[in-house]
Amino acid sequence: MKKGNLYVVSAPSGCGKGTILAEILKKNTNLFLSVSATTRCPREGEVDGVNYYYISEEEFKSEIESGGMLEYAQYCGNFYGTPKKKVLEKLNKGIDVILEIETIGAMQVKEAMKEAVLIFILPPSVAELRRRLNKRGTEEQEVIDIRVKEAVEEIKRAVNYDYVMMNDELENAINDFEAILKASKLTIENNKNMIGKVLENA
Ligand code: 5GP
Repeated sequence: MKKGNLYVVSAPSGCGKGTILAEILKKNTNLFLSVSATTRCPREGEVDGVNYYYISEEEFKSEIESGGMLEYAQYCGNFYGTPKKKVLEKLNKGIDVILEIETIGAMQVKEAMKEAVLIFILPPSVAELRRRLNKRGTEEQEVIDIRVKEAVEEIKRAVNYDYVMMNDELENAINDFEAILKASKLTIENNKNMIGKVLENA
């Protein structure tokens, strides 16, 4: 059976990637969004097992030691990581998987799984990103400053990705994301069988 595609999506916090991904997941039923583990506290409205698995630093470190994390990174003082087992299970069943992770972790995934497709979502500008974070109102000013600084570093790493797109208008962004999903399905690497089949009786 053909394996699923692994998509790694990164975007600075406040870029609207959650909204884009929610729309994409509604339209594409063969896509699974991996739930990460984190040591950060849940924000208001977040649910354990849905938004993240909220675990202690001890639990997180023991997961790393037992090889249970596909990748992990520290971001703004907290650990974030992708539990490996579920991702591999889905890929082996032919289901496409999306990891919504930051850039250091994304590089680890590319290193471990060369076939992963890395997508970076840009904000229209850093000033707009700050405005969106302020509007969201879930973080203190000091935390917003740290996140903006981190965002600038992340945007510098976008050059290492396979695809880049901007979230200025939601509808355009969704269309761009779908175009990337489609293009990634049409690579030679993904379609060697198809060529072989056409040539079978030639
Ligand atoms: P937030 O605290 O805003 O939910 O997430 C902060 C950052 O951590 C975001 O850039 C998000 O993409 C990233 N993140 C979430 N889950 C993971 C993960 O499993 N691994 C890595 N490396 N980053 C993650």
